[in-house]
Amino acid sequence: MSSELWVATTNRDKFREIKELLKPVSIEVHSASEIPNYSAPPETEETFLENARIKARFLKAMKPQSWILSDDSGLEVTSLKNLPGVHSARYAGANARDIENVSKVLKAIQLQTNGLDRSAQFRCVLVLLSPAGEEKVFEGLLKGTISRDMRGRGGFGYDPIFVPEGETKTLAELGLAVKNRLSHRFIAVKLAREFLASSLTK
Ligand code: IMP
Repeated sequence: MSSELWVATTNRDKFREIKELLKPVSIEVHSASEIPNYSAPPETEETFLENARIKARFLKAMKPQSWILSDDSGLEVTSLKNLPGVHSARYAGANARDIENVSKVLKAIQLQTNGLDRSAQFRCVLVLLSPAGEEKVFEGLLKGTISRDMRGRGGFGYDPIFVPEGETKTLAELGLAVKNRLSHRFIAVKLAREFLASSLTK
């Protein structure tokens, strides 16, 4: 069986996290960014699963013999009816920077509940395609609250405003080593990793 796995993301931070989490599995891990002129397909659907499928199938057509892993993830804020959700990467506009998305979330929470209900969660849905094309889906959730302002320099996206349950610091303050022990992505990748490891030894 192929021992190459291609990750359907061009997000360097996401890839870094996934690669680190897959270390215990003896498989060569590549990013879609290594494919010359690779351009990710548009994420046109309204669920994480469907968008993850779009990305996985698109890359599978280019790497038909390999394992493919795609990640669709985002922040769900309770008082915003689970927005930004699948729109997390572009909440403040098509090419919005992280800081613009973060500012929009902080303002929206303030407007919605006067800033009182700050509960939120990160969700990560992974689609894993085997070399034969069989699909497996894995999901991870990280519950927490949205801080009043941005704190910390690590991570990406909404990390500077997300405080995991049981912590007082944001994910950006906690840093990658801690994040990779508790994140939504960690939970989902761990499940995928266990499945992958048992498939590779069959
Ligand atoms: P995707 O590439 O369409 O899955 O977009 C995911 C977006 O959700 C990212 O661009 C971030 O804005 C946000 N996001 C997902 N996971 C994380 C995380 O671990 N930390 C912070 N933001 C995240």
